[in-house]
Amino acid sequence: MNLILEQMKNREELFWMNNTFESVNTGFDNLDIGYDDILDAEARLQRFKPLIAKAFPETSKSEGIIESELINIHRTMQLMQTKEKNYYPGKYFLKADSHLPVSGSVKARGGIYEVLFHAEDLAIKNNLLSYDDDYSIMLNDVFKDFFSKYKIAVGSTGNLGLSIGIMSAALNFDVTVHMSADAKQWKKDLLRSKGVTVKEYDDDYSVAVKEGRKQAENDSRTHFVDDENSKILFLGYATAALRLEKQLQESSITVDRYNPLIVYLPCGVGGAPGGITFGLKKVFGDNVYIFFAEPIESPCMFLGVLTGKHENISVKDIGLTNKTEADGLAVGRPSGFVGKAIGHLITGFYTLEDRNLYPYLKDVFIADHINIEPSAAISLAGPRILFKNNFFEQFNSNPYKATHIVWATGGNMVPKSEFKKWMES
Ligand SMILES: *Cc1c(COP(=O)(O)O)cnc(C)c1O
Repeated sequence: MNLILEQMKNREELFWMNNTFESVNTGFDNLDIGYDDILDAEARLQRFKPLIAKAFPETSKSEGIIESELINIHRTMQLMQTKEKNYYPGKYFLKADSHLPVSGSVKARGGIYEVLFHAEDLAIKNNLLSYDDDYSIMLNDVFKDFFSKYKIAVGSTGNLGLSIGIMSAALNFDVTVHMSADAKQWKKDLLRSKGVTVKEYDDDYSVAVKEGRKQAENDSRTHFVDDENSKILFLGYATAALRLEKQLQESSITVDRYNPLIVYLPCGVGGAPGGITFGLKKVFGDNVYIFFAEPIESPCMFLGVLTGKHENISVKDIGLTNKTEADGLAVGRPSGFVGKAIGHLITGFYTLEDRNLYPYLKDVFIADHINIEPSAAISLAGPRILFKNNFFEQFNSNPYKATHIVWATGGNMVPKSEFKKWMES
């Protein structure tokens, strides 16, 4: 019996260097999407700038581009080093998707992109729009009336529902969000206040997705945003890499063989971290090292890659509960599409107990005043775990030259009362 699998069953916190890992030289061979598709997605987001700026005034400063800051977190790292009585050399940044405009999580990348993709597609096919129009016309009554005849559906643990719901409602689509039992009440309330139909299930993410998919199947006017299989969603996430490349250049950070980039990504079904991985590997090749982070009760992508069974295995099959306070990561069965597309480009995986998420959430708030949710906090454990496992010695790499990016995937939309509870836990 595989030792790692045994430890996973026993709910031990794990670190695993992916033994299916491949270089980008061979790792992209099985894919029918490439760098040009990321550029195409970015161009589409550029076309939508006038619309986004108008519909969401919070994005007017960035002229309708939904992007997050890259924040230097040396204060947080200092606090962590003092507490952990350890030394973590290198440069440290937090990618603040926790504060992405419109929906305050990484889902603002893929989710919003897929709604825009669909809106453009419908408008072009019906001769209402051409590519060089000012896309803000899609907020006019003619379009509102047109989009109201089309439905959008999605299954979610919460944050994807927020992104899809908010963007669909802004365009006046008839939108239904199928929420798993993990979804927080405030997310459902917020969506309902925007006219979104919210269906609740007393079961986990996979069931909410299945129900959503089923209801959409028999209706040609319904577009189902398929978090488990959508290449559109995936490419929306991938555009993050182009943006990050620019931000690193602006911060005078070099990424090459001697100056590696190390990125920690919280993983649920795999779409967001998978799409970002795809983009980062296209941009930085083998000079970027990617770690996926999951809760001990929901290590679905880890399990899928470890066993090679991908979507054909669930954490429940090995006796885990898929119950976690990191609600954005509460997924028991990974995306087969993502696992097969980029599973072998992931450098490694680690898992964390829920109770070990809160210290990170507190540290980054105390030291750098950044509010993140438990799902995002898991990425901050990455540096400690890498140093503990002698990662740099293994790669014969100089830790002083590495740049680490902890991807903070959500937090800013969380009500103050909820955040306060976490801070006091
Ligand atoms: C959804 C989500 C993730 C993970 O994204 P997946 O596409 O489900 O893997 C991570 N963090 C937060 C806060 C999320 O909402």
